[in-house]
Amino acid sequence: MRVFHLSAECYPVAKVGGLADVVGALPKYQNMLGLQAAVVMPYYDRKFVHENEFEVVFKASSLLGIRRFYFEILKESTDKLGFELYLVRIPGLLDRENVYGYPDETEQFIAFQIAFLDWINWSQQSPDLIHCHDHHSGLVPFLLYHSKLYTRLANIPTIFTIHNGQYHGAFGWDKLSYLPEIDLTQTGLLDWNGGINPLAAAVKCCWRYTTVSPSYLEELTINSNGLEYLFYIERAKGFGIINGIDTQIWNPKTDSMIAEKYSLKQLTAGKQKNKEALCSRFGLSSDKPLVSFIGRLVVEKGADLLAEAIKKSILLHPDGINFFILGAGDIPVQEELLELKEKYPKQCNVYIGYDEALAHLVYAGSDFLLMPSRVEPCGLNQLYALRYGTIPVVRATGGLKDTVIDFGEEGGYGIRFIQPNVNDMVHALDRAAKLYETTPHLQLLRKRMMALDFSWDRSALEYINLYESLKPAI
Ligand code: ADP
Repeated sequence: MRVFHLSAECYPVAKVGGLADVVGALPKYQNMLGLQAAVVMPYYDRKFVHENEFEVVFKASSLLGIRRFYFEILKESTDKLGFELYLVRIPGLLDRENVYGYPDETEQFIAFQIAFLDWINWSQQSPDLIHCHDHHSGLVPFLLYHSKLYTRLANIPTIFTIHNGQYHGAFGWDKLSYLPEIDLTQTGLLDWNGGINPLAAAVKCCWRYTTVSPSYLEELTINSNGLEYLFYIERAKGFGIINGIDTQIWNPKTDSMIAEKYSLKQLTAGKQKNKEALCSRFGLSSDKPLVSFIGRLVVEKGADLLAEAIKKSILLHPDGINFFILGAGDIPVQEELLELKEKYPKQCNVYIGYDEALAHLVYAGSDFLLMPSRVEPCGLNQLYALRYGTIPVVRATGGLKDTVIDFGEEGGYGIRFIQPNVNDMVHALDRAAKLYETTPHLQLLRKRMMALDFSWDRSALEYINLYESLKPAI
C-alpha cells in the first residue's frame, strides 16, 4: 500500500514540536512493516535542505485565486530517512526559513495543498491512501471529494490525524476564491462558526480521524477551542492511537548528544555523569534532586504556572531541590522565569531558546521531568524521560494520563496530579523531593520505566490496521 503523509513539519528537516517527531518516525516504522510510506511537506530554507541532495521530479504552475504560482516537487535523492521525502517548493511562498508565523500563512498552506493535489493528479501518481496531519493539510479531504478538478482522485481514502486540536487554521470566506473550483452546494463542509475552518473540514470529510492518544479523543468533545460539538457528533469516525518514540534517536545507550551513554546496567553512574555535566554548565548542584521542564512556554503547557510553583517549592525545600527550564514562548512567562533565575541562581536556571542537543542532555541528566500541561494531546517529553530513566511529574490529561501511572499505584513509576494549579504542582514536587531521598525505591522506579516499550512498532501497526480496515473500498 502506497501512503503519502502530508505535514508542515518533519524531523530532521524542520521541527517546531511533536508533530515533526511523529512524521519523521511513523513512516519509517511503517516501511519496516512492509508499507510504502512517503512524506510530502513544504520546502523551508533550512540546514537539512542545503546539506542534502534533491532532484526536481515535477514542475508546474497553479492558481491561488487570481495569482499564478509556480511550484516544484523535490525528492530527497538517497531515501536516507527511511522513507521517500518530497518537498513542495513555491518561490515567494514556500521557500522561507520558518515553519510558522508569516502573515500570509493561510495562502502558504492553501498553495501547499493545491500543489500537492495538482502534482499527484497531473503526474498520474495515485497513492492508495493520503494521511493528513493537522490543519495545514486539512483542506485536502474536502478538495479531493468536492472539487471537480480532482474527480480522478476522489476514491482515495483520507485519514486525518489531530496532533493539536487547539489550532484550526481558520480564515474568512473572503478567501474562498483561493480554493480551486469547488462544488458550491458543499460549502457547509468548510464552515464552522461563520468561517472556513480547515480542521473542522478535515474532520467532516476524512474517512477516519485519529488523535494521538485515546484520552485526547474524549477530551476534544469538551475542550477543542470551539469544535467540541463537531467532535461529539463525529466521534464514531475517531480513533485514539498513542504516539511512539523513535528509539533509534532516543536511546541513552547510543545517544551521541549526551555526556555519558548508559544502559540499564550503568543507570545510576550514567545518569549521575550527565547530571554533573548539566549542573556544571548551568551552575546547579549535582547532589540535589533536579527537576526540569522542556517545551514551549505557553499556557497550554501550563508554563504560566511554573515560576510561582518553583518559587514555592524552593521556599519549601530551601536547600533541597533544583530546577532547570529549557524553552521559549510567551514573553511574560519568559520574563518571570528569568527573574526567578536572578533571585535563586543556585537553585534555578533557565535557558530561553530551542536546543535539540541540550534537550537530550536534560532528559539524561535530570531526576524528574515536570509537565503541568493544561492540554496534552500525547506528549512526547514524558516518553523520552521514561526512556532515559527520568521520572515524569505530570498533570493527568490527554496522553499524559494514558502513559504515566502514579508510583502510588500498582506497577506505577511516575507522579501525577489532577488540577493544573500551583498548589497541586507544589504538592507533586514535594512528593518528588521525598521520593528522591528513598534511593532504593527511586532506582526500582527508574528500572521499571526504562523497561517500558513506547516504541513506534506497536503504534505504526495500529495505523496500518486502520488503513487495512478501509481496504475493501480501496
Ligand atoms: P508540542 O505540543 O510542543 O508538539 P510534544 O511533547 O508533542 O509537544 O513535543 C515536543 C518536542 O519538542 C519534544 O521532542 C521536545 O524535546 C522538543 N522541544 C520542545 N521545546 C524544546 C526546546 N526549547 N529545545 C529543544 N527541544 C524542545
